Amino acid sequence: MSIFNFSAGPAMLPRVVLEQAQAELLDWHGSGMSVMEMSHRGGEFQQIIDEAIADLRELMAIPDNYQVLFMQGGGQGQFSAVPLNLIGRTGRADYVNTGHWSTLAVKEAARYGEAREVCSSAGDAFHGIPDRSGWELDPRAAYVHYTPNETVNGVEFQDIPDVGAVPLVADMSSNILSREVDVSRFGLIYASAQKNIGPSGVTVVIVRDDLLDHALPITPITLQYRKYADAGSLFNTPSTYGIYLAGLVFKWLKQQGGVAGIEQLNKAKADLLYRYLDDCGGFYFAPVEASARSRMNVVFRLRDESLNADFLAQSKAAGLLQLKGHKVVGGMRASIYNPMPLAGVEALVAFMRDFAQRRG
Ligand SMILES: *Cc1c(COP(=O)(O)O)cnc(C)c1O
Repeated sequence: MSIFNFSAGPAMLPRVVLEQAQAELLDWHGSGMSVMEMSHRGGEFQQIIDEAIADLRELMAIPDNYQVLFMQGGGQGQFSAVPLNLIGRTGRADYVNTGHWSTLAVKEAARYGEAREVCSSAGDAFHGIPDRSGWELDPRAAYVHYTPNETVNGVEFQDIPDVGAVPLVADMSSNILSREVDVSRFGLIYASAQKNIGPSGVTVVIVRDDLLDHALPITPITLQYRKYADAGSLFNTPSTYGIYLAGLVFKWLKQQGGVAGIEQLNKAKADLLYRYLDDCGGFYFAPVEASARSRMNVVFRLRDESLNADFLAQSKAAGLLQLKGHKVVGGMRASIYNPMPLAGVEALVAFMRDFAQRRG
């Protein structure tokens, strides 16, 4: 039986990447050491991190006036690091609230300055994205923060919002590298690795040079972008093994036709699942508005919620793992990041169809 893992994060990794890591576990490229046992200041690890950064730059076409940093602390670490590094420019920041993670981001930022919600879809149970024309942006904000893909709610922006001259900051934790984006539209992009990049413990930050030097005096040194930029991400000991695995994933992604190639596959997977949800006759339904549906995290519910436990037990027995929705939303969620093959979504739809026939 094939196993398909729909975890929202830490999420599945490409099998070939895990096999390569397994083959290299004890002795990396004849060095006599595991990557886990190498000095982060040695030549071997320098090669690993240099290649990872170069491959990420190539995959996302990152312009030269942006730094690529590997930090720690995850997505939530950046909820603090972003205001601690940027809000000092003007003392205020604008936040777009489209779900669980943006709600936490603005709450954390308010500890360091005047962080304001410019719009919120909370009243709509985070089932859509507030129309851009209704956002009340402050031209003096240090930045505008938004969450391109709300992992818990299954809501994704289909376009980059236009916020004028104010730097745009994006929490791309759950959709980085899943679709093509024009990096030059952003002041800063960050992503915890465990959704679409690699194992947990690595946080990728892509930051424009002019935003490196506005840290508040209280900013912990381990959260200062300038320190990481100057040290080539080796300010202190980074997650060396995590960076190595991320690098293997980047190489794998290049073999899949890069971001443009994987985007086509991601579209096909999401279309297949949403089409079934819309056409299944109501046994299941997708609560998110069609225009805001995430390609990465497909949230759905059973009309008869008393069947939830049965659905989860039987899907697990069929090799379809971790379909339970986040506890704040309930229902089901199929996370179908880059490594999920089309066959995984086909197997899920076949199971759902069969379950509906038996229990409908
Ligand atoms: C998972 C996630 C986070 C939190 O990441 P941690 O690494 O657990 O702090 C933040 N934002 C988004 C969009 C996420 O998907």
